Amino acid sequence: MTTDKSASTGGIIMVVGGGISGLTTAIESAEVGYEVLLVEKEPSLGGRVSQLKQYFPKLCPPTCGLEINYRRIKDNPKIKVFTMAEVEEVDGSPGDYTVKIKITPRYVNEKCTACGECEKVCESEISNDYNLGMDKRKAAYLPNNIAFPSRYVMSSSMLEDDKNKVKEACKFDAIDFDMQEKSLEFKVGAIVWATGWTPYDARKISNLGFGMYQNIITNMMLERLAAPNGPTKGEILRPSDSKAPDTIAFAQCAGSRDENHLSYCSYICCMASLKHATYLRGQYPNAKIYIYYIDIRASGRKYENFYKKLKQDENIFFIKGKVAEVSEEESTGNINLVAEDTISGEKVRQNVDMLVLATGMQPNASLDKPNADLQFNSDGFIVNDFKEGGMFAAGCANKPADVITSNQNATGMALKAIQTLVGR
Ligand SMILES: Cc1cc2nc3c(=O)[nH]c(=O)nc-3n(C[C@H](O)[C@H](O)[C@H](O)COP(=O)(O)OP(=O)(O)OC[C@H]3O[C@@H](n4cnc5c(N)ncnc54)[C@H](O)[C@@H]3O)c2cc1C
Repeated sequence: MTTDKSASTGGIIMVVGGGISGLTTAIESAEVGYEVLLVEKEPSLGGRVSQLKQYFPKLCPPTCGLEINYRRIKDNPKIKVFTMAEVEEVDGSPGDYTVKIKITPRYVNEKCTACGECEKVCESEISNDYNLGMDKRKAAYLPNNIAFPSRYVMSSSMLEDDKNKVKEACKFDAIDFDMQEKSLEFKVGAIVWATGWTPYDARKISNLGFGMYQNIITNMMLERLAAPNGPTKGEILRPSDSKAPDTIAFAQCAGSRDENHLSYCSYICCMASLKHATYLRGQYPNAKIYIYYIDIRASGRKYENFYKKLKQDENIFFIKGKVAEVSEEESTGNINLVAEDTISGEKVRQNVDMLVLATGMQPNASLDKPNADLQFNSDGFIVNDFKEGGMFAAGCANKPADVITSNQNATGMALKAIQTLVGR
């Protein structure tokens, strides 16, 4: 049993963002006795990890890490979760902040059992953001198969006809279209920003043809295609004709380490493409995989060993050179790419079934700046000012990182938040 530390210090910790980093900070703080408010803008917790097919280091599905965390949250009355919620304003100083949050209506209350009867009768459809717009979903939807809370959402764009149908279909009186946007105010002692990242918008990389040619996809799209709960139920098929690809190329550093796009390395993209090669290898043992890279960044013993193992695969080819140009072969939908092999000094021209752009991570806080007194570096990541204290950034809000590093960092930020409360 934990004692109520918040009562003795008079402080509550607010965590903004319910991805793996925010979950970690919230749980670590609450399990030693602090009250936590966890604010997530999406209808479910889980963040980007929930969209992966498998994740390093163990290559397990997201369920294995997320479900344990969800259970710990469920069992801990000290954590209050707000979904579809965003921070509007932060005032005050370390140990004494006033925060306003805005909650968008879900139109579904806690009586929902996620039985799915509303989804069956609903005919309106919306773009499926969870699958990065590669398919549509019903306007009455469960955010994903391991959603927490496990509760449906009614899209505000649902047609009037459907609103009546879904209400009628719900045996639990859980649907309420009279719900209004709410504003809530809290006093908190410390805030941890764990607002994470978004895939860099590949449309901005004009020489790499994303958005122009259907068979050029991004690494996160590949994650969704490979995931059993994705748009193709886990089959990696090329978008133009649902063909199983025989030749797949990866363009590393797509928009990364490039002053015109993201000037930094996103740390995980090399490992992500190596992981993707194993997804492809699992489905298509004879497919040929070409990885175009500047340098492969596989830091640490485990990642290095993974890379070494893949180098032995005779159907995986590593070409040291950046993809410079792409075009589409009209008759087949194949992609022609041009790169310079910096080892042989030769220009490589290749025709592949599909090209995957290994795009990097852009901090969400750089796209949607929090209304709070925070410092940012030139790439848009939140800088931790430990001297000032009070507000801290955890995980990918602070720097590009893998899950292990994010978790370690988020645990550290839980301690920093606690120190703010104790040190008042
Ligand atoms: C292609 C690819 C594959 C990857 N594969 C792996 C892998 O195999 N292994 C691995 O270790 N790492 C992998 N990663 C990296 C991994 O995704 C990150 O380490 C992880 O997502 C970091 O978690 P986070 O909580 O910091 O951020 P996120 O996962 O982005 O979570 C942030 C959360 O904050 C919420 N949020 C954002 N803004 C606000 C706001 N204003 N208010 C409230 N909530 C907000 C978001 O909705 C989200 O839920 C991969 C990355 C890529 C690009």
